Amino acid sequence: MTRQAPTLSPATDQDRVAEEDEFLDAQPFDLLKVPLLGPLLGWRHSRTFLQIPLFAVSVVMVLDGFLGPTLSPKNLATVLTWVHFRGALVLAILCAGNLFCLACPFMLARNFMRRWIHPRLAWPRRLRNKWIPIVLFVGVLFAYELFGLWASPWLTAWVIVGYFAAILIVDGLFTHASFCKYVCPIGQFNFIAATASPLEVAVRDGEVCDDCKTKDCIRGRREPSSQLVVLQRGCELALFQPAKVGNMDCTFCLDCVHACPHDNVGILSRLPAGELMIDPNRSGIGRFSRRNDIAALAIVFCFGSLMNAFGMVSPVYAVEDWLRHALHIQSQAAVLGILFTAVIVVEPALLLGLAVWITRAWAGVKNGWLAVAIRYAYALSPLGFGMWLAHYGYHFFTGLYTIVPVAQNAFAQIGWPILGDPRWTWVGLPKTVVEPLEFGFLLLGLAGSLLVAWRLAHDDSKKHPVRAFAPWAALSIVLFLCCVWLMTQPMDMRATMGAG
Ligand code: SF4
Ligand code: SF4
Repeated sequence: MTRQAPTLSPATDQDRVAEEDEFLDAQPFDLLKVPLLGPLLGWRHSRTFLQIPLFAVSVVMVLDGFLGPTLSPKNLATVLTWVHFRGALVLAILCAGNLFCLACPFMLARNFMRRWIHPRLAWPRRLRNKWIPIVLFVGVLFAYELFGLWASPWLTAWVIVGYFAAILIVDGLFTHASFCKYVCPIGQFNFIAATASPLEVAVRDGEVCDDCKTKDCIRGRREPSSQLVVLQRGCELALFQPAKVGNMDCTFCLDCVHACPHDNVGILSRLPAGELMIDPNRSGIGRFSRRNDIAALAIVFCFGSLMNAFGMVSPVYAVEDWLRHALHIQSQAAVLGILFTAVIVVEPALLLGLAVWITRAWAGVKNGWLAVAIRYAYALSPLGFGMWLAHYGYHFFTGLYTIVPVAQNAFAQIGWPILGDPRWTWVGLPKTVVEPLEFGFLLLGLAGSLLVAWRLAHDDSKKHPVRAFAPWAALSIVLFLCCVWLMTQPMDMRATMGAG
């Protein structure tokens, strides 16, 4: 049994996938073949089985957020959301893939609703892109700083409730997984981050797909006597397995695994970030080089990681004060608006503009400005992921044990102290352990960005690949140094007992 490359047009892409297969010795590791874990994931109700505990935890978080302690380091809503959930999410993406979407508690509520509500509207064609979730993603980062979400259990609980409401409204009105594909900011974060994951849901043997008559992986299966009765969903994200490339838009829902009548879909190993080096026509997505919205997502993902970290280090207060005095403005929203615009819009426009200019002028790349910017924007995504890992990993590891006293306290508060007295001295791993991890994540991100940029440059400029590579390597290194500087600044210990 061999894994075959999807249908790709440019020869370079075919070569690349062949190289990737060679790298993986043509027999990729398949998570679904692992004893115990494989059968568990392959079980038809595996997703529900994983979602139920997360749904229960979400309910507890909301209740504690509304009714529990108002001090954020003592509340389950804030501690679990801002310390544990974010860290676990990025670490899972690093080690495996988009496991949060697999176990997404919001989807449990939505699937339950869809037992009775069957939407008929198709998501508007003009909105079939990533612009709405990009705006929402920046909006969440902005609201996080403006309202100090990490410090407010009440607001955090409202964010969770709002998320449930949004998915029920959108997927109650529109067919397929419209919320996941066109609205959810967490989903887009996961999709772009998971381009660096070591696993992807993919076909085991392309020849089996060639002979397949039913294509159930995308169509799903329905009751022969009534087409209204769905026996098994196909891919709701419109990813047709034989032509699917990489993790973009894949929620790891495993519907295709359950639907394929030939047991031909697995969770296979691949070269992390390898999907960013190629530009095939991807099922449900098209070519990356023609998706300016996904390129913008990669840019916002990278520069948003800098902004999010900048918001929690001491120098941000000095910059905010300087802006207030220099521009005579008092509104915190206006100050933050200027900062966000500078870091997420102006800075990338200037830096990418300069890199594009050098690439075209020095390496002789003939493509237009926008085309070059879109092409190389994807190279920034691994570095962005490294920064999110370093930042969220910092909170996760330094606040790792805080869940113990906070859970003890939550039980004690409802008059049921079964876990004993809260041990507030339990916090997390020492910084001497966490700091090397942070720099390891950043270095990993930098290595990924340099590798992707090199492969893109090599394809773009056969004559001067080093010249095409140099500006993007320089940009990656400059951003890496910014990340290192940020991670060495005194940081707020948000939502933990050392909170500043
Ligand atoms: S249903 Fe299975 S065999 Fe058929 S096209 Fe999809 S993945 Fe391939
Ligand atoms: S059904 Fe679609 S979204 Fe779900 S795992 Fe398969 S390819 Fe990914």
